[in-house]
Amino acid sequence: MLELCLKPIASRSKYAQIQSRLCQCEKRHNGSCDEFPFLREFKVSHPSVAKKIERDATMTTGASWKSQDAGLNRILRWVMLLSDDELLDFGINMSQLKPQVIAKLREKAASYVDCIEVAKKLTWLAYQMLDAPQPLAETSAYLVAHFEPMIPGSTTCIVCRKSLSFNLFAEARRGRAEIETGHMNPRSHKAHNVGFVHRECNIAQGQRTLQEFYSWIREILERAESNPIARNPDVQNHEVY
Ligand SMILES: [Zn+2]
Ligand SMILES: [Zn+2]
Repeated sequence: MLELCLKPIASRSKYAQIQSRLCQCEKRHNGSCDEFPFLREFKVSHPSVAKKIERDATMTTGASWKSQDAGLNRILRWVMLLSDDELLDFGINMSQLKPQVIAKLREKAASYVDCIEVAKKLTWLAYQMLDAPQPLAETSAYLVAHFEPMIPGSTTCIVCRKSLSFNLFAEARRGRAEIETGHMNPRSHKAHNVGFVHRECNIAQGQRTLQEFYSWIREILERAESNPIARNPDVQNHEVY
């Protein structure tokens, strides 16, 4: 494991008193401190990918909430670890939110350290997608020191296990990205539990863990196979029963 600098980085955010953002560069590094040194290359070559990794790792995810709750749509995950009373000091009144919104926000809470490790893991995975750019030796060594050696083209959707192309980042339908950050267990935001996932696969998985999802799909297919649908000219693909 690399020894990291971990010096606090000055911030004007009102949430800095909860948790200082820490330099993730190697200890005794040259140059200024940086919280996301592993994203430096993407920040230049693919800024939207860098932004997505940073946002998905550190912020609660967006949902189509009503305007009253919209302000909390994206908030730092570690802020959601505070109690309702502590949040009041930051002008966040949880008691005004709908129970489903509260549940969603609380479920996405994660420690700062976990969020930073998730950002590193997502970067490591992005570099191993098909058609991904090559990281500089320094970035590669940094990520490999955190995880395992990188195998080009080995990153798959965590749900359907198809290979993922880096080009999918640039594709979006109705403003929504074609690949999203997914969780094998939707209630755990930790590096070992995250990966990239097709948008459709993420929607299909929903709130199930991967294991629950595969069991559910298996049961559906077993029922479909034992109860073939009646002759219907609109359903001609025999592979779909
Ligand atoms: Zn530093
Ligand atoms: Zn998939």
